[in-house]
Amino acid sequence: MSVVKDVPKQLLINGQWVDAKSGKTFEVPNPATGEAVAAVADGGAEDARSAIRSAHEAFKSWSRTSPIERSRYLEKAFKLMSDRRDELGQLITFENGKPVEEAKKEVAFAVGYFDWFAGEARRIYGELIPSNVATRRLWMIRQPVGVVAAITPWNFPATMITRKIAPALAAGCTVVLKPAEQTPLTALAIAKILQDVGLPPGVLNVVTNLYPEEIGQEFLVNPLVRKVAFTGSTEVGKLLMRGAADQLKRVSLELGGNAPFIVFEDADFDAAVEGAVGIKYLRVAGQSCICANRIYVHESIADRFTQAFVEKVKAIKVGSGFEPDVIVGPLINKDTLDKVSGLVQAAVKQGAKVATGGGPLKEGAFAKGYFYAPTVLLNVTDDMGVSREEIFGPVAPILTFQTEQEVVERANKTNYGLASYLFTKDLGRVFRIAEALEYGLVGVNDAAGYTHETPFGGFKESGLGREGGKEGIDEYTEVKSIVVNLPK
Ligand code: NAD
Repeated sequence: MSVVKDVPKQLLINGQWVDAKSGKTFEVPNPATGEAVAAVADGGAEDARSAIRSAHEAFKSWSRTSPIERSRYLEKAFKLMSDRRDELGQLITFENGKPVEEAKKEVAFAVGYFDWFAGEARRIYGELIPSNVATRRLWMIRQPVGVVAAITPWNFPATMITRKIAPALAAGCTVVLKPAEQTPLTALAIAKILQDVGLPPGVLNVVTNLYPEEIGQEFLVNPLVRKVAFTGSTEVGKLLMRGAADQLKRVSLELGGNAPFIVFEDADFDAAVEGAVGIKYLRVAGQSCICANRIYVHESIADRFTQAFVEKVKAIKVGSGFEPDVIVGPLINKDTLDKVSGLVQAAVKQGAKVATGGGPLKEGAFAKGYFYAPTVLLNVTDDMGVSREEIFGPVAPILTFQTEQEVVERANKTNYGLASYLFTKDLGRVFRIAEALEYGLVGVNDAAGYTHETPFGGFKESGLGREGGKEGIDEYTEVKSIVVNLPK
């Protein structure tokens, strides 16, 4: 537990670690055992106001630093966070539950955003625009948007933070971060890294708290906040967007998903099975926004696919993230466990068949945690809750299809539009389907998700704006046009 001991447990405001004004703290449970790992400061609206003020003050100088100077801080953060990868990985396992090897991989991916945006900081180009008048000059520049309020979820407690703060800092913005109440320790450890590399006071502030509404509200009503960058559920995203409307704050929203995973009869069979298992179970026990939610298999290979898939799922080891060889850890909390159980029970009532798993694990070492058996459901239809809703657990519904047109229509029949996958060797089909899928990400013969270099974000109710790629930094800038009449 020394990795936990070393993490600050207070709020970070203007470069100082401070208690919440109320003096309150809240406990962070380990989802594998239900036991408290640590207690951290429980901030409120007043703390958020101080943090916003400090970010506003710091913006005055930070926004005027040169891109290369900002870039150097991010490079140093990349180096130090990489050095602390193992400790951070363990911290994530303590509060999030994911297996420690997976957690370390997350940290390795999360630091990549410091690396990527250290480069992009130096490429925030403007444009010299050809003028309509001979004696007039036109140009466009990009400037930092101002104070950014960042709200992040628990499922990727490191990546969801670096994917926001790296581009924000690179662009010259200052930040107040409110991490998820389930995973504040990772956020505080990342903030400590930025402090250790000498980031000036107030450029990054962190306000942890147990009940997010109060701080969320302050972010929305405080005129010093110019942008809200959010990752989380579609429900809360909509609420924030409505709230941001009053002051027309900029918003970027990375929300829920309901990813179709389509396997054609000509697919590389082993790669498709491997990919489906990976994207369903190997990412936080299925609690990821880009997890396969509906697996559509061409009817001619459905039996063979199901058999191979189920065999692999049966071999998955479930347990505490610190146990060797564990692939699926606990779900984050009881609500999530109950939601997943409810979706499976309802599907079974409507005629779905459980091929493996099918319920929570409660005996022995599982007794105190929130464990759910890796589950495969057959005879699933599009109208069942497991197909319509984001499952957010280790449950794979398998559906079958006959034609290309039919499967595209079914895949698109959802309000979500984040990630989608398709496995085929037919090049014409690759283009037809990749273009027809209404999703921000299409993985073709690829289920690894996205990379730092690609813009990531959702169509429809999966979000607004993009993170990563060169587009990721645009979200933190305002475009200014400058029109100059030359003196006669
Ligand atoms: P959530 O919306 O409940 O919480 C996310 C964050 O919002 C947390 O920090 C929480 O404290 C905060 N929050 C909750 N209510 C709030 C309010 N009223 N005002 C201000 N802040 C509030 O989501 P969750 O259950 O923690 O995360 C899972 C969801 O996030 C899933 O839907 C998942 O798909 C989505 N997600 C999306 C992406 C993406 O990149 N699109 C990535 C990860 C997770």
